[in-house]
Amino acid sequence: MTMKLLKCTKCGHENPPEAKFCMNCGASLENAEVILKEVVRKKPVLLTIKEPEKSILVTLFFISAIILICDLLNSVVQILVRVIIIGAPYIIGLVLSIYSGYIIKKKEPLSSKDRIIIFIAIILSLIGTLSIYIMNVFAGSIMYSPIWLLYVVILFITFRALK
Ligand SMILES: [Zn+2]
Repeated sequence: MTMKLLKCTKCGHENPPEAKFCMNCGASLENAEVILKEVVRKKPVLLTIKEPEKSILVTLFFISAIILICDLLNSVVQILVRVIIIGAPYIIGLVLSIYSGYIIKKKEPLSSKDRIIIFIAIILSLIGTLSIYIMNVFAGSIMYSPIWLLYVVILFITFRALK
């Protein structure tokens, strides 16, 4: 492929055809010599992977993909297990806490079954909030509240009241 270029009369610099002034020295290109230059287009370099490297590479990529998927699944399962272990007492404790507040307000006197539910609610809430608090402390998080202290107080008052 040939390309038109404007050769500067002053310095000899070859400028693109649309240039009005030399890009090297700034001289006017009005009377510049038009030259035709052969532009060599580079062929794209194509890589060919030969055997046995080809088969080995295909196999290794396949194995690495399987390992990556297994690692990912393993991490997801571990996170889920952790969330369930920590989350379960928290969520059950939360539900039972609401129920406990309700039965203490509405039902009087409390049956021994109610008393068990209230203590389970307090213990699970305490375990849930304390484990999240400890986790946050170890993770160096600054966004945590010692809400478990509230459950220690609730446990103390309930224990005295229901003795
Ligand atoms: Zn020039």
